[in-house]
Amino acid sequence: MKVLVLTGAGISAESGISTFRGSDGLWEGHKPQEVATPEAFADNPALVHRFYNDRRRQIQQATVRPNAAHQALALLETALGEDFLLVTQNVDNLHQRAGNSRVIAMHGELLKVRCNETGEIFDWHEDLTEGTPHPNNPLIQKSLRPHIVWFGETPFYLPQIEDAARQADVFISVGTSGTVYPAAGILSQTQSHCRTIEINPFPTPLSPKFDETIRQKASIAVPIVTQQIQDQSIIRG
Ligand code: NAD
Repeated sequence: MKVLVLTGAGISAESGISTFRGSDGLWEGHKPQEVATPEAFADNPALVHRFYNDRRRQIQQATVRPNAAHQALALLETALGEDFLLVTQNVDNLHQRAGNSRVIAMHGELLKVRCNETGEIFDWHEDLTEGTPHPNNPLIQKSLRPHIVWFGETPFYLPQIEDAARQADVFISVGTSGTVYPAAGILSQTQSHCRTIEINPFPTPLSPKFDETIRQKASIAVPIVTQQIQDQSIIRG
């Protein structure tokens, strides 16, 4: 039984990381177009760097840890192996920290930076500024940017994600608003035999299209659903 899981900011809300759209429609006090577009980075790189430096510092605070939902998905991967794939829109690395390795971070990762000139990707835990030197070539200047997919840019690994959606027997969407495309389009790439489940305390525009919607927090619902899948896959052998 092939299981594809899509996660969004909601799964990390109970780990203390704000979702994208708070009740004020802002992301940590900013309009998304001020901080999460290539145009914003070109216009005001200092502001964009400061925003992502704050986000990078936040996810490294001792209080920010994987919660029961992340942990349950790590256990499901252990049980299913190659039949499991996790696609996340999150950039916080909490899935990797929980123990998942079959993770596609389609919107990038806060703990990585990329060189605009060479395309190299570096692990990164510190602040980044316009003046931060390239790690191994001092002749390249002002080339580093957060390894984050901004609005207007193409997410990573879309062909692999589409393949996984077509092959999935179970598709679970956790903590995502269903409004950020192409992630929101993954549901429509699943086939008719695939059982589709949404976990979100609140309805989303996609809710009517799922076979089942579970109106619960991720930390409650994900451990239950993943246990059910493990029980079924044991019965099926
Ligand atoms: P979103 O903020 O648009 O939507 C979050 C969804 O989670 C909402 O539908 C909300 O009802 C739901 N939710 C809130 N608390 C929940 C809980 N405890 N359990 C389950 N669901 C809960 O997020 P999105 O759809 O992921 O899109 C946001 C974009 O912003 C993504 O592209 C992502 O890259 C980025 N982002 C990432 C993080 C992160 O890495 N943690 C945080 C904020 C934004």
